[in-house]
Amino acid sequence: MKKLTIGDVTITSIIERDGPWRKPEDMFPAYDAEVGKRHLAALDKEVYDPVSGKMVITYQTYVVRTPKHTILVDTCTGEDKGYPAPMDFPKQPWLDGFHAEGLKFDDIDYVFCTHLHIDHTGWNTMLRNGKWVPTFPKAKYIFHKGEYAVWEAENAKGNDPPGTVFRDNCLPIVQAGQALLVDDDYALDDTITLTPTPGHSPCHCCVNIFSRGQRAVVTGDMMHHVIQCREPDWSAKPDWDAKQSAISRRKFLSSVAETDTLILPIHFPTPTAGFVTADADRFNYRFKRE
Ligand SMILES: [Zn+2]
Repeated sequence: MKKLTIGDVTITSIIERDGPWRKPEDMFPAYDAEVGKRHLAALDKEVYDPVSGKMVITYQTYVVRTPKHTILVDTCTGEDKGYPAPMDFPKQPWLDGFHAEGLKFDDIDYVFCTHLHIDHTGWNTMLRNGKWVPTFPKAKYIFHKGEYAVWEAENAKGNDPPGTVFRDNCLPIVQAGQALLVDDDYALDDTITLTPTPGHSPCHCCVNIFSRGQRAVVTGDMMHHVIQCREPDWSAKPDWDAKQSAISRRKFLSSVAETDTLILPIHFPTPTAGFVTADADRFNYRFKRE
């Protein structure tokens, strides 16, 4: 994704992994092959690989620089986590991307996690002397307190998810005193606020960026693929509550359709950022190409 500017804020992205990933019929339980085929033929060529029949899915972190703060939104899968394939992405591309931004770990003031899943919390921590410690020593990490509580309870029950994600990526941040466990109405300042979009996870939140009358929104996993703008009711297999996910998606997409709100999904491939337009009871996603 090219560098974007929203008023006084700049936004770039660090890509951990991209390319063909999953077949839509494996991703969306409500998938209808005939309907899907029609949509995929009409969508931008970047989002689908007809040779493998797989959707193109990117894993990335946003770097948001406001006049006051350097912020990361979502932190991919990270390093040394020991995840089995296919989640065992190499760590170097993310580190190279981070350094190409001219950043050091010390430079990060805030880390926002839209939700506490494996591919959104990885670089929260790193392994040092056999212990998981915060990667960004000066940062405060923003987790939704309801989201944290659910994964804490699931972890205590030994469930997967979260597997090791809560223990290795989230708990050490709280133990280090670097977490801010926040509610729906949390605002860092006039520039950064949250919009609750529960469903994919218990208390998933989108992260708003406001500056000089403009708005961008990091939408996390509120949607995974452009086809969900055409079919907002197609919730993804990993969704915590498929029905709630569809409700949140439709509500959010309605709220930004036909506005100049810039949408920043985590999993959409380059050029990634775009705008939503309305089409009766469904939506279109228009990549920002210039
Ligand atoms: Zn994700």
